[in-house]
Amino acid sequence: MNVVETLSANSPLDEALRGAIGAYVARNPNSAKQHASACEAMPGGNTRTVLFHEPFPLTIRCGKGCEVSDVDGHRYFDFMGEYTAGLAGHSNAIIGEAIKQSVDNGLSLSGHTRVEAEFAATIAKRFPAMELLRFTNSGTEATLLALTLARIATGKNKVMAFDGAYHGSVFTFKAAVNQVNVPFDWLLAPYNDAAAAAKLIAQHADGIAAVIVEPMQGSGGCIPAERDFLLTLRKETEKVGALLVFDEVMTSRLAPGGLQTRYNIRPDLMTLGKYVAGGLSFGAFGGRADLMQRFDPRKVDALAHAGTFNNNVLTMAAGVAMMTKVATQQALDRVNARGEALRTRLESLCREYHAPLCVTGIGSLFTIHSVAGPVRSIADTIAQDQRIKELLFFDLLEQGIYLARRGMAALSFETDDAACERFTAAFDQFLRRRKLLFAADTTSLRPARS
Ligand code: PMP
Repeated sequence: MNVVETLSANSPLDEALRGAIGAYVARNPNSAKQHASACEAMPGGNTRTVLFHEPFPLTIRCGKGCEVSDVDGHRYFDFMGEYTAGLAGHSNAIIGEAIKQSVDNGLSLSGHTRVEAEFAATIAKRFPAMELLRFTNSGTEATLLALTLARIATGKNKVMAFDGAYHGSVFTFKAAVNQVNVPFDWLLAPYNDAAAAAKLIAQHADGIAAVIVEPMQGSGGCIPAERDFLLTLRKETEKVGALLVFDEVMTSRLAPGGLQTRYNIRPDLMTLGKYVAGGLSFGAFGGRADLMQRFDPRKVDALAHAGTFNNNVLTMAAGVAMMTKVATQQALDRVNARGEALRTRLESLCREYHAPLCVTGIGSLFTIHSVAGPVRSIADTIAQDQRIKELLFFDLLEQGIYLARRGMAALSFETDDAACERFTAAFDQFLRRRKLLFAADTTSLRPARS
């Protein structure tokens, strides 16, 4: 049954959503056709779950600056930002040139290169917690390797994660059970609940290898950690000989040195991914030298970590350009200030209209929730009416704003005043047009989908 078939005829909110979806279908015949054709070779026409939405997703044709265009000829301000990997925007000349030069220098060079050492040194300098590091192909792999190292180094098995967390395609904790997760011996605790975490760590003192946490849950809803919570994790892991792993795949763009520097808390291991290689596939894990030395192949008992594309020349070249010339402290400060300003404006519009919505986040990343807030953990979003979020998604698309369907936005260095103005105006229009629905239809609230 598709989403339209689940909508009832006597709910104004359902009616509004049906209308918005109908208009979307009418506006996007080429995307519909393309999706049907993609279904012939991929289940549901999809190879990346997070991009799918009903009745069919847009097919993007190209991107330029902070805009994307679809196959029906619509242009959108891109606030999806490739789920934070698109920090450089769509047409950064410095990254483009680095990739072109690398292509000219030869693909698949079958060996170590100077560029990979330069890239590693640049990252280690930027993120002091990464005394030594290794490259992977994705954030998922980085998480997998960091947690595997923690289990080997401590000789223990259990790994603690937090409700609502996402640490990669095989590390999803948004629903109670995820069949695709790596079958580690998981312990789950509520996010931002220092006392509960401390208790669980103490209870499993003998078995716990690592605690993995994002200093702001990104996919989980841009929910910032409270300092006291992270401090407790730091203290309690040390007490029981477990390792603290910060997943900064998304959050490392929020402050030079990673979001951890804002909290002034240093993990034992950390992971990176997303934007660091300018938009090319990338991941890295690293941390305390004594732990990472385990991978030194000169040792007789060295841990193995292979990976054909760990040092692929295009990623390495794009990464050096991104981290030395593009993602400068000044550029990060600018995009994060722009994001803060936009989030503050959206948040005040929610209050102005007395809408049951709120906006959480830090700097250039934020999420619009369909609850009044405050939101300190995923539990605070359980009452979200998913229909309001879907209506917002379709209404914003109609106004030329492309963002993640879960309400998440990620700005890029190219995001300009015009894009932010359009976002603000479109959000204002959504609230004005739909405000009566929020109040009228709370009797049939539906739980949020994970
Ligand atoms: N950790 C976090 C915090 C993430 O947000 C993501 C991706 N959304 C990952 C890990 C996995 O990264 P990738 O998609 O590159 O595997």
